[in-house]
Amino acid sequence: MTDKLIVREAADKICLRCGSCLAVCPVYKKELTEMVSPRGKMSLAEAIHGREIDARRDVAGYLSQCLICTACMDECPNNLDFDARMVAARSGLRMQKPSNLPFFAAFRTVLQTRLLMNIGAAFARAFRRLVFFKVPGESGMHLRFPLMVPRDRLLPKIAKSSFLKSDAARNAASPEDNRPSADPVAYFIGCMGNYSCTEVPESLLQLCKSYGQPVTVPLKQKCCGMPAIVAGDLISARKLAKKNIDVFLSANCEKVVTACGSCGSAIKHYYPMLFKDDPKMKSRAEELASRIVDVSELLVDQLGQKEFSVNKDLLRRLGLDPSKPVKVTYHESCHLGRRMGVIKQPKTILENIEGVEFVPMKDENVCCGCGGLFSVHHYDISSAITSDKAQNIKATGADIVATGCPACMMQIADGLAHLGHNIPVINTIELIAPRDRESRIPEAV
Ligand code: SF4
Ligand code: SF4
Repeated sequence: MTDKLIVREAADKICLRCGSCLAVCPVYKKELTEMVSPRGKMSLAEAIHGREIDARRDVAGYLSQCLICTACMDECPNNLDFDARMVAARSGLRMQKPSNLPFFAAFRTVLQTRLLMNIGAAFARAFRRLVFFKVPGESGMHLRFPLMVPRDRLLPKIAKSSFLKSDAARNAASPEDNRPSADPVAYFIGCMGNYSCTEVPESLLQLCKSYGQPVTVPLKQKCCGMPAIVAGDLISARKLAKKNIDVFLSANCEKVVTACGSCGSAIKHYYPMLFKDDPKMKSRAEELASRIVDVSELLVDQLGQKEFSVNKDLLRRLGLDPSKPVKVTYHESCHLGRRMGVIKQPKTILENIEGVEFVPMKDENVCCGCGGLFSVHHYDISSAITSDKAQNIKATGADIVATGCPACMMQIADGLAHLGHNIPVINTIELIAPRDRESRIPEAV
């Protein structure tokens, strides 16, 4: 029902076929095929909505060739809500693409249940020597055999234990977990922070503590649902959104902070959209959306921090000399920049770290090429887009790449590895965390 509502509202305006969006579409620039241009996909979405064409598998193939990076929306003179239309169109086609079925099964089972997610992570870790081999430099893992993704794709490491099971998380457990508190900020961690880059939530809690900002961690939080949203599985997405809305609105917080642009944009942008036909839930979704902030917004805008110290332990671990200035470049995540509107704050941090020289890269706000299932189904196009990003990073001469989304971190690390330029990709806040991870986080494979 809500799926239809999204389509109907999105169809109030039509595509003018002007082509203003073509020059900024990363996928079109690689494929040069009208059917995968923003204009072409708009035509398909409108034709499906008007029942002019059948939802056939080849249509699903074209519609899957979109990163939902929303660069085209910036150029559109008719202000089309392209991402809403793409999600709605994919929702209508979700069962037409058989290669999506394992992912939809996971969205409806594993993603909904923390226990199953914990078991999945533990299983992957237990069989890591059989299934994965570790890549030197702690940058990730490669598969031993091609399983849905190519064997040479760099995959994220898996933490020994999830962050939500750590003492740091449990010590900051929220009131709905029976700890009386009036702490004004609650933390939405996200799956990558919880199961892979656990140094990011550790850094966030340490930073907030050092600035005197109390933070609670609701232990019953779920996946944000972004993988299901962009794949068009709105049933799974709505279930996850409802659970998170319930948990965080009962957490007695004024703000909800995240260090993941994808999680933040799911809550800020997509949650209200998911409940357009349910006024009560829509109002609750909008309430939560109004509270979500990225950690860079919290530090710069809310806490007014203007100067930062570099994490020297981190530099040493990365093989850099902390006594010399370190060059850092920045990739702007599409979800953090365009969807959350967080553009200046991460750069304000990077420009004001003692001992850091910020070196901007060309096209810093162009998509890294990930796009959820896009990088699984269209790895050749995805990696070609990432290769451009990696080249732009290399041209800066930077020692480190900072960004605000773990999915971008994973994608860019893969692109740099293929280029043979293995410089570290980190979350911006790791660079300014008071301590490095060695003394504080579980071992990762
Ligand atoms: S959202 Fe991004 S990838 Fe998709 S059509 Fe628009 S510019 Fe192209
Ligand atoms: S810029 Fe907007 S109106 Fe013009 S072709 Fe692209 S989607 Fe259609």
